[in-house]
Amino acid sequence: MKFIDEVKIFAKAGDGGNGIVAWLREKFMPQGGPAGGDGGNGGNVVFVANPNIHSLLDLRFQPKILAENGEDGGKKNQFGHAGADKVINLPVGTQVFDEDTNELITDLSEVGQEVVICRGGKGGWGNNRFATASRQSPDYAYSGRPGDQRNLRLSLKLMADVGLLGFPNAGKSTLLSVISAARPKIADYPFTTLVPNLGVVRRPGGKHFVVADVPGLIEGASEGHGLGFRFLKHLERVRILCHLIEPEGDLIARYETIRNELTKFSDLLISLPELIVISKSDTVTESEQKASIKDFEKYLKKAGKSCVLMSAATKEGLESLLTQLGAAVFEAQTPDNS
Ligand code: GDP
Ligand code: MG
Repeated sequence: MKFIDEVKIFAKAGDGGNGIVAWLREKFMPQGGPAGGDGGNGGNVVFVANPNIHSLLDLRFQPKILAENGEDGGKKNQFGHAGADKVINLPVGTQVFDEDTNELITDLSEVGQEVVICRGGKGGWGNNRFATASRQSPDYAYSGRPGDQRNLRLSLKLMADVGLLGFPNAGKSTLLSVISAARPKIADYPFTTLVPNLGVVRRPGGKHFVVADVPGLIEGASEGHGLGFRFLKHLERVRILCHLIEPEGDLIARYETIRNELTKFSDLLISLPELIVISKSDTVTESEQKASIKDFEKYLKKAGKSCVLMSAATKEGLESLLTQLGAAVFEAQTPDNS
């Protein structure tokens, strides 16, 4: 499935049907009273957050969303039928902006959340509505009101608790596949993850948290190089970043590169709590590599930070990693009053 997280669409609610002018024509009543019915209301455009939808792809193929118009009123005081609502299912985490004013209209962050985005026009009154004692034959009716219409921009931001972060090849997708049922693409070359993947991590006591694996960041990502920058917005809602670093070469430089990219992207990302993880700890054998890890630990300590070692291959350090991530996530959740 193609992952699409930005679309622009035009949405229009149905117009109200027109009220009509009509007269009762019945046997023995040549001059019957007014009998023009009201027009029906136009249908609304409604957006619903549906947990089974994961991409905005469908909307690429229907850039115009139109709800049904209300029917005109009928003779003999018949109401026109109301137009049907147009209900659009969207991924949870979709933000809906007015493209012309840039105003955030709604954030579909809750499963099942339902929002009327464009309201249908009211049907017009038929002439029977205007009859009064002093005006028994009104020969006018109201037209239906037009339905709301607007240009919209939809932007999907994934709803995850933990965001995996790091250079391509750091082992993010492998970690996700080991701790959850998600099966992201894994290979020993960079950029295998071209779309974000979500995995649910089950913890003791029936608790769980959601981890997002987004395509790797590379240097210059915030200037639009590479793939990472395009997907960084998906990390903005997480509670904690899990920054994976391979245990080779200059760890400090790689750590700083990623942190710099975050700074350039948004103040929000850089201020999120982070857990720093040295991945692939099973590959650390040579003393030279150990030295580079020691340097990195010293560097972190100066900044009041620390890191953990972990191997997705041997599962060393994995349980402790999940415990720490779980603690950060569950602590941030509002405790219930039990
Ligand atoms: P990503 O680009 O950060 O998603 O990295 P991947 O998960 O695709 O992993 C990149 C490569 O590192 C793959 O060949 C993995 O098999 C390998 N790898 C990942 N985790 C470990 C680990 O814990 N130990 C070892 N030895 N290799 C790993
Ligand atoms: Mg990957």
